[in-house]
Amino acid sequence: MRKPFIAGNWKMFKNKGDAKRFAEEFSKLYQNKAVDTAICAPFVHLEYLKEAFKGTGIKVGAQNVHHMPEGAYTGEISVGMLKSCNVDYCIIGHSERRQYFGETNEDVRQKIRQLVDNGIKPIMCVGENLEEREKDMQFQVVGRQMSESLVGFTISDLKDLTIAYEPIWAIGTGKTATAEQANEMCALIRGILDGMLGEYIAENTRIQYGGSVKPGNIKELMAQPEIDGALVGGASLIPEDFNNIIEFDK
Ligand code: PEP
Repeated sequence: MRKPFIAGNWKMFKNKGDAKRFAEEFSKLYQNKAVDTAICAPFVHLEYLKEAFKGTGIKVGAQNVHHMPEGAYTGEISVGMLKSCNVDYCIIGHSERRQYFGETNEDVRQKIRQLVDNGIKPIMCVGENLEEREKDMQFQVVGRQMSESLVGFTISDLKDLTIAYEPIWAIGTGKTATAEQANEMCALIRGILDGMLGEYIAENTRIQYGGSVKPGNIKELMAQPEIDGALVGGASLIPEDFNNIIEFDK
């Protein structure tokens, strides 16, 4: 039985004061311990959030990491730096990083290697763009992202992997994939995991849907058998909205 996992992605929003207000309010609201949750925040808030969420069960994630352990890479953040802030999760391969920073499946693979070797749980994002969906190429695109990013890993490496299926055309657009479309892709992803890593990983890996998830559509998405949670952008910025998503089963 996979425990639901709902993570927020703040992207490049919130200054220090906003992060503090959110943490104070959300810590009081979060009661649904039947759902795992995490806030994936900008680097500058990670240490503060770990401290603020102490004892609440709320986990903290980063949104990116560099693929090398250290070196002359001005402006970058290493896995060791994340580890020293006790970060629990890290989003990898978000479509905004692929689109604006040219991240490839090979970069994603190397970043996951850094994370799993250092005990930080990856949330790997995959998903097709609108043109690919309109050409009915979505399964091919996601299949390739999966196989190229996860090649060479063992079952033990990927025991704490989460996959977020995020169709790019649904991110921040207010357009959600239908629950059936999302479920269909999550089933494909689980099948690929089975083929690459076997039944244990396929059955135990949590697959999230992401793309305009709101309090009003989460219930239908979570009712799908292959969807184990959500990666939430915009609606994770407001404590009440994010908590209402987490309380989808109430
Ligand atoms: C995201 O940032 O991963 C995301 C899905 O954003 P939104 O919920 O705003 O569509």
